Amino acid sequence: MSQLGTLEAGSRHDLHVGLSPDAPDEGELRDDAEGAFGYAHSYETASRYDGPGLRVVLFVSGCLLRCTYCHNPDTWHLKDGTYVSAKQVIDRLGTFAAALRSLDGGLTISGGEPMVQLGFTRRILAAAKQMGLHTAIETSGFLGDRADDRYLSCLDLVLLDIKSSDPETYRAVTARDLAPTLRFAERLAAIGKPVWVRFTLVPGLTDDPANVDGIARLVAPMKNVEWVEVQPFHQLGAFKWKAMKLDYKHTDTPQPTPDLIKRVIDQFRAAGCRAR
Ligand code: SF4
Repeated sequence: MSQLGTLEAGSRHDLHVGLSPDAPDEGELRDDAEGAFGYAHSYETASRYDGPGLRVVLFVSGCLLRCTYCHNPDTWHLKDGTYVSAKQVIDRLGTFAAALRSLDGGLTISGGEPMVQLGFTRRILAAAKQMGLHTAIETSGFLGDRADDRYLSCLDLVLLDIKSSDPETYRAVTARDLAPTLRFAERLAAIGKPVWVRFTLVPGLTDDPANVDGIARLVAPMKNVEWVEVQPFHQLGAFKWKAMKLDYKHTDTPQPTPDLIKRVIDQFRAAGCRAR
């Protein structure tokens, strides 16, 4: 049993490691019960980037993917997070609720992967809805099969990261299969759940025109997809890989040039997507 800690405001770019050494392995956790406790990395209070309006963004621990460019490898393992009660998180969120409502914002849970700790994140999302807040998760969709109707009913928006349309590239990027993400995207489309697709543009890895076209053709017919957001690769997470003694493959990968970003956005637009 991990020791209860206090969740501190901070930045997604802060390094957090080894805070709950007794935590279970994220691959074995089945947190589909009531989720009174969970593991979290940090939270930010003034994001204008992770959903509409002003957002509180909670970064939870645990992810089963291993993206080669991940900016936050210190969210992969529950043992690196702080063990907190959902009540502590909800009480803290409550202090921001009036401001978030007045600025047409809300709560976004990111990570890591929110659906690793399904019960914990559902409890927090449900409480946010009770406060009248707009709610969102950022997810790879890999664990989308875990999300039951009760979970989806707590969500106003899904920020869905689609890293590639090609199974081989997807596996090279994430070490996991693409199929669960596609299944989740199709399910969200079938129920009309609002989605912003996020695509990380990594030169030499995901920028192949055929890869971008594949995602664009997949997403364009989905009426629930409000935006496709192209996210340029950056090196802000590189220091975490070094500090955690992980094998970082992108030391020499450049940031995408403005021309490359424009080419990719134009590709999405040409396919009929609303892209930025
Ligand atoms: S899904 Fe997100 S948190 Fe998980 S490894 Fe990929 S980039 Fe990192």
